[in-house]
Amino acid sequence: MITNVTTESTSASVATIPCGPCVLARTVAVTKTYGTGALATPVLHGIDLELRAGEFALLMGPSGSGKTTLISILAGLLRPTNGLVELCGEVISDASETFVTRVRRRAVGFVFQSYNLFPALTAVDNVAEVMCLKGMPRSQARDVSRQVLTRVGLGDRLMHRPSELSGGQKQRVAVARALAGEPALVLGDEITAALDGRTAMEVMELLHAHVSAERGVLIVTHDRRLERFADRVIEIEDGRVVGDLRDMQRSPARREP
Ligand code: ADP
Ligand code: MG
Repeated sequence: MITNVTTESTSASVATIPCGPCVLARTVAVTKTYGTGALATPVLHGIDLELRAGEFALLMGPSGSGKTTLISILAGLLRPTNGLVELCGEVISDASETFVTRVRRRAVGFVFQSYNLFPALTAVDNVAEVMCLKGMPRSQARDVSRQVLTRVGLGDRLMHRPSELSGGQKQRVAVARALAGEPALVLGDEITAALDGRTAMEVMELLHAHVSAERGVLIVTHDRRLERFADRVIEIEDGRVVGDLRDMQRSPARREP
């Protein structure tokens, strides 16, 4: 059931968002058009989608099909032109920017293809910064950051800055940052595009370990090798969902490495 939400919600109400075990994100009839008038570019044409806890889903489709647009809308980083977007039980499509930011910080961890790390900060502080933004005291945030970075195999790179890390290590910092707040939903956009095959698989395994009865992952990719990690593959073409197959509907052969 989709409920209305007050845009004046307090951080306390956001902190109590029921995040599972159910639908983590939902779009209903979502459209997106960039620009207006003669420059209007319709990109999404009525997307109905539900992402559920327990799922490791891939969103696949050709370049320009609207994947980044859709995942940005799901994360509350971009507004749809029309339609409804719900994140962990909260309607964000027409909520205030402040409210959307609170919901996103609470519910979503986002991993970008280009890492989006703060160049001047160490690995520890890159991860800690996000938790500080959520209100955690810095010393505690650094403790959690060290633990998560160690979990992703960067225990010996805690004090390195992004320029001192390889691409795979930078992406691990970005994954650690996304996982550190234990968000219900982790979203990633082409996160393995700049990584070699082995490092890509290692990063995917870290994300796979995040999935639980209360948590889910959606990764945008056109790398078919990642399909073996997926419980669900959503295919998008020209801004429309053209396929949506769950585990049991997919051929076992497709799941083999
Ligand atoms: P994908 O991630 O599948 O490659 P995108 O969502 O990035 O696709 O882009 C879908 C379409 O929207 C493309 O044709 C792209 O050129 C267009 N587009 C993306 N961002 C903008 C923007 N800010 N302004 C205008 N057009 C855009
Ligand atoms: Mg893209």
